Amino acid sequence: MADNGSANAPRPDLSLAGRTVLAVFAHPDDESLACGGTLARLADAGVRVVLMCASHGEAGSISDAALVPDGDLGGVRMRELRDAAAVLGIADVIVLDHSDGNLRWKDSPQFENEIVDAVRRYRADAVITFDEDGLYWHIDHIGVHDRTWDAVASMGADAPPLYFVTMQRGVMRGIVNAAQLKGGVSSFWGITPDAFGLSAPRPSFVIDVRDWVPRKLAALRCHRTQMGADNPMAWIDDDEARQWLGLEQFRRAPIDAAGEPLLEQLGEPEPQHAD
Ligand SMILES: [Zn+2]
Repeated sequence: MADNGSANAPRPDLSLAGRTVLAVFAHPDDESLACGGTLARLADAGVRVVLMCASHGEAGSISDAALVPDGDLGGVRMRELRDAAAVLGIADVIVLDHSDGNLRWKDSPQFENEIVDAVRRYRADAVITFDEDGLYWHIDHIGVHDRTWDAVASMGADAPPLYFVTMQRGVMRGIVNAAQLKGGVSSFWGITPDAFGLSAPRPSFVIDVRDWVPRKLAALRCHRTQMGADNPMAWIDDDEARQWLGLEQFRRAPIDAAGEPLLEQLGEPEPQHAD
């Protein structure tokens, strides 16, 4: 870590107060998994954090059918999302009604217009979304990356800085191993843990969120319909979460943007992990 990177001696972040950051993701729980620590840290620094969720997540699996007695998974996941947003200090949640599973192909002009409208309405000083790897090549996540990039770039000189978030390679494998040592997780959501970060573009800075990791984990666990015994996040404790989830990594999109750097103010130089 850089010598000024101690989570116990944070910089004052005063210049962030009063700013607005718009985070655009695909499903309820993406916000917590991808960068819940950064969103909470921004909120604590006085930033108005606005979350746009493109779908209700109605096509997801359900950890326990008793959690969705009326079969309305999208409705339940909305309540879970609002609980998670409250934990992270998110000021406003915008939920769009695009169909879960079709985000890469359907409703492109409409979705891009909705993103531009939100940037303008909230006067967003920065936008965060997935990088081109969609965390683990999730097709909806890649769709949201594409739509958000096109939407923000279309604003030309009015575009705020756009940031792409990825997960560090090996992190999810570490979490799964920790969970398995406790007897949990035989099959992880049907996703190989090694897919996370495997092809992530190189980040240009990381944000130390170790002090915010308990809230990140608590926010993840608000998504109860996703938090069955096969989810490693259900098994790890705060110390393990701090070890594996304490750094969130970003790069800035190569677009012309008028705004001054924002997320970089919380950042450390690029991580030292092996390629
Ligand atoms: Zn997702």
